[in-house]
Amino acid sequence: MRKKLIILNIILILAAICLSYFGFKTANLQKMEMAEEIKKQTLTSGKTVSEIIGTALDDVEKDISGIPDILNGREKFNSDKILFAFDSKFNVIYPGFRTYRNELKIPGLSPDFLGKFNPIEEMEIKGDFETAAASYENLLKETESPNEKAILQFVLGRSLRKKGDIKGALSAYRELISQFPDSFSPDGLNLNIISHYEIIRLQEKSGGSKDAASDAVSLLQDMQNFKADISEEESVYFSKLLFDVIASLTTGKEGEKKNELEKLRDTVQKKNELREKSILVKNTLREKYPEGRQNGFCIKKLDNDILFFKTIEDEKYGKISGAELRLGNTMERDMTEKIQATGLFIDIVCWVTNKENEVIFQTDKIESISPTVSSSPPGWPDGTTLNLHNTKMKNLEDSSRKRMIMNIAMVGILFFIIMLSSILNLKMTMKEIELSKMKTNFISSVSHEIRLPLSTIKTANEMFVSGKVKDDSQARKYYEYIDSEVGRLEQLINNVLDFSRSDAGRKKYHFKEENLGNIVNESVGSVQALFEKEGFSIGKNIDGNIRARVDEKSVRQAVLNLLDNAKKYSGESRIIKVNLSRTDEYASLDITDNGIGIEKDKTDKIFDAFYRVEDEMTRKTKGVGLGLSIVKHIMDAHGGKVRVVSEKDKGSTFSLLFPLDFNNKKTFI
Ligand code: ADP
Repeated sequence: MRKKLIILNIILILAAICLSYFGFKTANLQKMEMAEEIKKQTLTSGKTVSEIIGTALDDVEKDISGIPDILNGREKFNSDKILFAFDSKFNVIYPGFRTYRNELKIPGLSPDFLGKFNPIEEMEIKGDFETAAASYENLLKETESPNEKAILQFVLGRSLRKKGDIKGALSAYRELISQFPDSFSPDGLNLNIISHYEIIRLQEKSGGSKDAASDAVSLLQDMQNFKADISEEESVYFSKLLFDVIASLTTGKEGEKKNELEKLRDTVQKKNELREKSILVKNTLREKYPEGRQNGFCIKKLDNDILFFKTIEDEKYGKISGAELRLGNTMERDMTEKIQATGLFIDIVCWVTNKENEVIFQTDKIESISPTVSSSPPGWPDGTTLNLHNTKMKNLEDSSRKRMIMNIAMVGILFFIIMLSSILNLKMTMKEIELSKMKTNFISSVSHEIRLPLSTIKTANEMFVSGKVKDDSQARKYYEYIDSEVGRLEQLINNVLDFSRSDAGRKKYHFKEENLGNIVNESVGSVQALFEKEGFSIGKNIDGNIRARVDEKSVRQAVLNLLDNAKKYSGESRIIKVNLSRTDEYASLDITDNGIGIEKDKTDKIFDAFYRVEDEMTRKTKGVGLGLSIVKHIMDAHGGKVRVVSEKDKGSTFSLLFPLDFNNKKTFI
């Protein structure tokens, strides 16, 4: 039966594994089918998106391809569009503003000069302007090269300005402008312009703000009219500085002068912005394609703008680089609006990436999402990809993940339950095997226990029947044998009957308030002679004033069982002690022997029915393994406890604890 159950459990486990496997498979299949469906939907929407973006891209490409028409006068310049064209050396050829130099002019300085110049500059940096100024002046006297002289003149002005000598500084700068109009700083900046700018700042500081403002305007105009030899970068940089000066000098002022200045500033600013953008585009193209040519139509993200560019053919300039810059935000907004207007994209986020995987634009936040479908529509710039994420896909993934976790948890629980039941089954089987072994032992022990006293009685009786008993003393001996063996048989039968009654819950107890001491004394008295005959002494210490509600008969039986065990398992020792004492809560009857003792791990089992410690000593002693189990039944019925304290080869003390407040059924530990 048990075997069948175990097999059934194994089948159940296998069935659970198979079921969950097929469950996973079907769920996965379902998920894949749904994912396929979502992908299909997304692709259909993707077509519309790619058409919208494709149209915008076509527009841009058309703009760029139209640059030669503007350059050659067939089309008008359209100021709404930011278009650029560069020749192969990256000179701006469109829009038609004049351009400044492309490179900075770094002057050649002799090592000898630098050897003398650098320590002085260090002194200046450290703050010793006075000595620095004097040293620059001395070095100026011995230097021949005009460029080196110009640099010295400039740093002389600078150190004097820092020292606070405004007059000295002004004259040093003026000297530089008049003597060296075409000189450059070690890092290639036009010293003439910087000196002009410094003079304006000094004038502003020393109260000559009128002069400063008009000087700033005329310097700005000079720069606009290409009177200064500056690079593109310098023009942008100095224009900004001069705007600031002009703005600070004209704030709060009214009149024609101010209007004139503002007008000038606006035009320069517009030009400057365009210039700035042209520099940015030029640098990007130059960095990406130093040889000056690019293949096909390309897209690149430039800060907040999107740069489109391609190589085009112009009849006058030959192959040129054409570019268009579109404001990123505006383009993104336009595109998103157009896409959303189709009504298809409530669930879809789309974004475009270029060859370098930069996100060119996006219709929504794209962190932590992956594309459901990606494609590179035909006609789009090389490597440009349209990515579409369908939020339904994420929901599908989330819900399938949840389902998966649920499935795993359920299979886990099922597995656990089946395992638990298998273990329980196994345990029960083991227990049953043990029990049946115990029962077999019990039957053979009981038969043996009955046969032994019976044969003694039979032999004694035969002696009487055959008239072989000669005198009274011999007759008494045989009577005593018979008496003792009958007593043993009686105790055995009582135990067996008692056990079967207790086990079936049929045993009846008659509780009465009794003197516990008397019961113990009488029980000990009933066996004392027999014990003494076998050489045992029973030492008693009994409190005669303990009254408790007990069933007298069963207490006697418990005491006799314990005394019998003390005798049986005493080994060589012949001393048994019986002690009855009390606390407030309970009475304790302790029966102590100095016998063979019990190993710690067995002290719990000895109270189980039919259990006997398996060793040589127990094998030699008579017993069926019921005595202690009956004692335990009795004590349970009394609401009490039986305890054992034992040490192998030293002896044992069995204690019966009777509650004194029995009416309350108060249990104690
Ligand atoms: P039985 O004495 O008939 O075997 P019991 O239920 O009275 O059965 O005792 C169970 C087992 O407990 C005994 O077989 C014995 O191994 C052990 N035992 C009981 N009392 C003692 C004792 N006083 N000293 C040592 N072992 C004991």
